[in-house]
Amino acid sequence: MKSRFAPSPTGYLHIGGARTALFAWAWAKKQKGSFVLRIEDTDRERSTQASVDAILDGMNWLGLDHDEGPFYQTDRFDRYKEIIQQLLDEDKAYYCECSKERLQILRDELTEKGEKAKYDGCCRDKKLNSGVVRFKNHLEGFVSFDDAVKGLITIGNKELDDLIIARSDGTPTYNLTVVVDDHDMKIDTVIRGDDHINNTPRQINLYEALGWQLPEFAHLPMILGSDGARLSKRHGAVSVMAYRDEGFLPEALLNYLVRLGWSHGDQEVFSLVEIVELFELKNINKAPASFNQEKLIWLNQEYIKKASTEYLIQQLQWHLDYQSVDISNGPEFFRVIEHLQERSKTLVEMTNGLKMFYQDFSEFDEKLAKKQFKDSQPIELLMNKLSALEDWAANNIKDQIKQVCDELEIGFGKIGQPFRLALSGNGNAGNIDIVSELVGKKRTLERLQMALDYISQSCN
Ligand code: GLU
Repeated sequence: MKSRFAPSPTGYLHIGGARTALFAWAWAKKQKGSFVLRIEDTDRERSTQASVDAILDGMNWLGLDHDEGPFYQTDRFDRYKEIIQQLLDEDKAYYCECSKERLQILRDELTEKGEKAKYDGCCRDKKLNSGVVRFKNHLEGFVSFDDAVKGLITIGNKELDDLIIARSDGTPTYNLTVVVDDHDMKIDTVIRGDDHINNTPRQINLYEALGWQLPEFAHLPMILGSDGARLSKRHGAVSVMAYRDEGFLPEALLNYLVRLGWSHGDQEVFSLVEIVELFELKNINKAPASFNQEKLIWLNQEYIKKASTEYLIQQLQWHLDYQSVDISNGPEFFRVIEHLQERSKTLVEMTNGLKMFYQDFSEFDEKLAKKQFKDSQPIELLMNKLSALEDWAANNIKDQIKQVCDELEIGFGKIGQPFRLALSGNGNAGNIDIVSELVGKKRTLERLQMALDYISQSCN
């Protein structure tokens, strides 16, 4: 069994493409088959190497490994030429020299009459030797196929044009190359977006003309944004790598993607192993799927909570490099991760949260500082107690805070809040005694001193 993912390298790997790739990958893995990656780069004007790289990076980050390929269609032009010639020789295709102007007039006339704009077969029997090559579609009859997702689809041949299979410069078009490749690469399940459903009957006629066996087709429903329109840049990040940059774990994104148009009862959380085990084409929904960013964030948080520290450290590396965070000067990294794991929705949030343990800062959040740094007495007292503390452990730090409250007869908030701000600079810190232990004695005292300096400066 073989499935494939066949992106055109004209942009990055987007969410819709990644979902197609995941479904095709899961289906191949489930059946211990082979997953083929094919780069459809025949459109030389729009295809770029940067986009090929972006697709490979995206697939690699998601862990959707291919068993065969990547194959490039531009390496296979001789093969396409051979097939085009064969169709010409067998009188199943013909050259057409109709000018763009003529075709436009034809289109306009048909549209005006309320008819479907299609080629009228003007050059069909002219036996020309140059121009574009058109496939001689049947004039009568029907094409039927049983789509694994959409069910039985039947189209009258009258609806279909004599499709262009080669441009006038001899380069083949998508509908020709996809048929030749899927046949040559022995693909038996074609899983792709339903934007290709209109191409399928044309491709089926080509298969038939070439005497080739048809693959099974499964056309995936489209993905809509929250407003019901097709998912696009307007709705936020659509490139897979932008999700990496925003701090999502690849397995959270994969889990999210598999639920876009596929379900297994009410289950929401699936490991990759489960996806492979449970995946069935028949459980793909017919209706479009809606992209829901909140659900993705929820899943990401679930995955972060469950992840091992080692794995998080590995996944955080890119973010540390990207934000130039040096973790060599500070507490043991795994302890900070454990502390942040419960509180972080994304790896970006985690990276921001861990900075206070490794980086000094010179300013406090101004608004918070104005509010929290008013009274120097509790801060001074806490500083005195903490500087005398020998065993720098969260429990002991907590005791000192409590003593400050008792001695000054103040509530916890009066010292807890300023202490939190002093430690973090921005007020974003969890349990302050643990945070203080991790920040370390020297840095804690320095930051409390900074808070005192702030108070004395604002008094002057
Ligand atoms: N290259 C086509 C695209 O990116 C996909 C072709 C196919 O899956 O048949 O839309």
